[in-house]
Amino acid sequence: MKVLNRQENVHQFRDEILSLSGEDASRCVQCGKCTASCPIAPEMDMKPTQVLRHIQINSRNPVLQCSTIWLCASCETCSFRCPEEIEIATVMDTLRKLAIEEDLATGQKQIVAFDEIFLDSIKRYGRVYELGLVMRYNMASRQPLKDAHLGPLMLGKGKLSLFAHRVREKATLKEIFRKSRRFLRK
Ligand code: SF4
Ligand code: SF4
Repeated sequence: MKVLNRQENVHQFRDEILSLSGEDASRCVQCGKCTASCPIAPEMDMKPTQVLRHIQINSRNPVLQCSTIWLCASCETCSFRCPEEIEIATVMDTLRKLAIEEDLATGQKQIVAFDEIFLDSIKRYGRVYELGLVMRYNMASRQPLKDAHLGPLMLGKGKLSLFAHRVREKATLKEIFRKSRRFLRK
């Protein structure tokens, strides 16, 4: 962990998150409601409450290297329960962006690849093109035939479509991505 000298701003990380996301981690009172309500918390190596605490104490790398920020499903249950109305999912988005920029997501390559392919699908079509997503993810994770036997079955039952379907509101989609630019990596 990085050691601060006296001249460094002990609130540097908190200030950076505040400036990028608009969310002030110093308001967190460590009540634990976010962790208690998070459906994915049991799988996380750092609980949402701990993520907020690390930001408060300027502990940067442990947060940017944890799997939690990649497991967060942005369901916003935590934000709904937070007595301080902190948008924790937005904080997680910002942390993901920083982790990529600083090349600290090294232990999460498959999750990062999935995240990028998923987002790219939304950007192109306005929805997930499942078949394209699975094929691209399998190639990225170097297991091209993973679950291939399920493809014909799902196609036959109409659970998968051979072709992508775009949403009609292309301009709205473009505008959403323009407004979300500060949270996105590209
Ligand atoms: S937004 Fe993320 S951290 Fe919050 S409850 Fe949902 S999965 Fe958990
Ligand atoms: S619910 Fe809000 S105040 Fe409570 S620990 Fe989580 S972020 Fe902090």
